[in-house]
Amino acid sequence: MKRVRAEVLSTRKMGAYHQLTVVAPEIAEKARPGQFVSIRMPTGREFLLRRHLAIHDASRRGGWAGTLEFVIDPTGPGTAWLASARAHSFLDVIGPLGKGFAHPRRLTNCLLVAERHGAATLYFLAQELVATGKRVDMVVGAETMEQVLKPIEAKRLSQTVAIVTADGTLGDRGAVMDALPEAADRSGAQVVYAAGSARTLEYVAAFCRERGLPAQMALEERMGCGTGLCQTCVVPIARKDGSGYDNLRSCVDGPVFNPARVLWDRWLGERPTMLPTPPEGLPVTRSWPG
Ligand SMILES: Cc1cc2nc3c(=O)[nH]c(=O)nc-3n(C[C@H](O)[C@H](O)[C@H](O)COP(=O)(O)OP(=O)(O)OC[C@H]3O[C@@H](n4cnc5c(N)ncnc54)[C@H](O)[C@@H]3O)c2cc1C
Repeated sequence: MKRVRAEVLSTRKMGAYHQLTVVAPEIAEKARPGQFVSIRMPTGREFLLRRHLAIHDASRRGGWAGTLEFVIDPTGPGTAWLASARAHSFLDVIGPLGKGFAHPRRLTNCLLVAERHGAATLYFLAQELVATGKRVDMVVGAETMEQVLKPIEAKRLSQTVAIVTADGTLGDRGAVMDALPEAADRSGAQVVYAAGSARTLEYVAAFCRERGLPAQMALEERMGCGTGLCQTCVVPIARKDGSGYDNLRSCVDGPVFNPARVLWDRWLGERPTMLPTPPEGLPVTRSWPG
């Protein structure tokens, strides 16, 4: 993990998001899909804590060597500030942080399920999977067309893509869960990778459990320090021996977890759901199965 003063190379608006490219060779060299960085905010009461962003891409070779890319979904003051960053300004960046996705050694058919800015981390993963000869298929979803991140990139990286939007402005009308069963069948999925809202990931986890599919998911728990000290971002994870669970810090033990071991009910509690009703026929995981 390095702390660097990274120059902003460029910023670009992409639909509802902003793409931010910074020069940070020490971090880019080590970055793996699923990892993230923490970025210092300007001085001010609303900015006491650093903000965390998944690594969307890391160039290690070629003309853009040593750069990191992020996708900013401006939902609050910190992300709005990052979205307004100007080229040639500097950011205080710590990274790469956390544990990334593990590559399947034997499993070759990988289904990637991305919701909103969750696609940022999964496109980085897709590049690596394709480079190692895996088959990649995707489901990409959001509320509106503007919130579907780089649909052309999704097409470039995968054999098949299902795009869904809640308002039907791009692809089929619906949520990623609606497209998941058909995408899993079509792709012959052997492993599922997902990133998105916690409620959607809970549904995807239930689907994978029902189908007996191994999966890995990048969780976004509210995070304080990002380096394991403050214990803000804990997620209850069942122990392998079934003797109970541990509250693991998603900043250092995650953010990528095996969803079969996440105690979704305990973790999410009464958080509001993004989906109005569970998809038909699919039981929602409300308790850890034994
Ligand atoms: C590992 C990790 C990777 C992330 N990657 C990205 C990324 O690539 N792009 C991106 O735009 N954002 C990403 N985020 C989310 C981003 O860091 C938070 O939303 C952050 O709080 C935004 O700061 P803010 O000041 O803009 O908004 P805030 O004022 O902090 O929050 C805005 C709204 O989101 C809610 N909120 C904040 N954090 C969470 C959470 N974890 N779960 C549910 N609701 C929450 C707040 O209550 C508020 O309503 C990531 C977070 C983590 C932990």
